[in-house]
Amino acid sequence: MSDRFSFSVAATDGRARTGTIQTPRGDIRTPAFMPVGTAATVKAMLPESVAATGADILLGNTYHLMLRPGAERVSRLGGLHRFMNWQRPILTDSGGFQVMSLAGLRKLTEEGVTFASHVDGSKHFLSPETSMEIQRQLGSDIVMAFDECPALPATEEEVAKSMRMSMRWAQRSRDAFGDRPGHALFGIMQGGVTRELREESAEALKAIGFEGYAIGGLAVGEGQEAMFGVLDYAPGFLPQDKPRYLMGVGKPDDIVGAVQRGVDMMDCVLPSRSGRTGQAWTRRGQVNIKNARHADDPRPLDAECTCPACTGYSRAYLHHVFRSGEMISGMLLTWHNLHYFQELMQGMRDAIAGGRLDAFVADFHAQRAGGDIAPL
Ligand SMILES: [Zn+2]
Repeated sequence: MSDRFSFSVAATDGRARTGTIQTPRGDIRTPAFMPVGTAATVKAMLPESVAATGADILLGNTYHLMLRPGAERVSRLGGLHRFMNWQRPILTDSGGFQVMSLAGLRKLTEEGVTFASHVDGSKHFLSPETSMEIQRQLGSDIVMAFDECPALPATEEEVAKSMRMSMRWAQRSRDAFGDRPGHALFGIMQGGVTRELREESAEALKAIGFEGYAIGGLAVGEGQEAMFGVLDYAPGFLPQDKPRYLMGVGKPDDIVGAVQRGVDMMDCVLPSRSGRTGQAWTRRGQVNIKNARHADDPRPLDAECTCPACTGYSRAYLHHVFRSGEMISGMLLTWHNLHYFQELMQGMRDAIAGGRLDAFVADFHAQRAGGDIAPL
């Protein structure tokens, strides 16, 4: 284990890379998928179960944790790792995105954002400086710079103005972060779907200097084609020797396409959220376990999957517990979904290392095109 934060690329295949992020709390194999533990829990999962799916790192949400239970309280209780019993690395977002999507009564100025909590209406203020302080109190290993993601639809002029303020905030985040060996600060590229703005943003971030770089402002409803359009050039604006993180992505085919375009890290609530709504993600695509076709089906969700849901239970059982509102339904489907996402990442890491990512991706799409197994 390293006592500092570092990143090394072990192999490349086309624009895709595989490697390792080293941190004092353990290694992160890349490309990496980070399950989301919004309120200091990956819903319906014990931390050891999340680790068993193959996750090296979790994401925690600054916005949620600062409101409840409060970052100072988490700090007094020994930090987020100890509080939630997850000893591996944790990345926290800056809170900016969720202030824009969840909070009420926002007031945005150059200084920061004043907002009302969606929990109890109380007034709060987030700025680059307060976000760095809250993420320090949480004890996160990878801290995200405080930025603004403009609400869509936005004109190019609005996107440019917002991006330039985010770059000023990136400098303030860097200054406030200070010298914290073993911890990393990531800058966030903005600029919407405009190539020149993305390049300007990347240059501004590189001039400041970060341990890693996120591609922000995507996966916000622009669609896969537009997102891949940006990913065709944007990762190339960032340093080769630093990790690249695509925030909030995504569906399995989004993840595969992003990795092909040079992304090293991703996060999404999709596998855990879907697990609680009866949606399973498999190598054959999506399976809706609510569907009546599964009621008498003794076969597993995926006969090749080694997760507890697939090795111990039938589709009929998974259908029954979902329909009955039993808690084990969300537990089993979340475990399966996280297992599938992590297995997909391992498959891509192996394929990149072996120089056969194209064949892996062709097989990935072919299996999904075949669809779910036929009803009995
Ligand atoms: Zn499974």
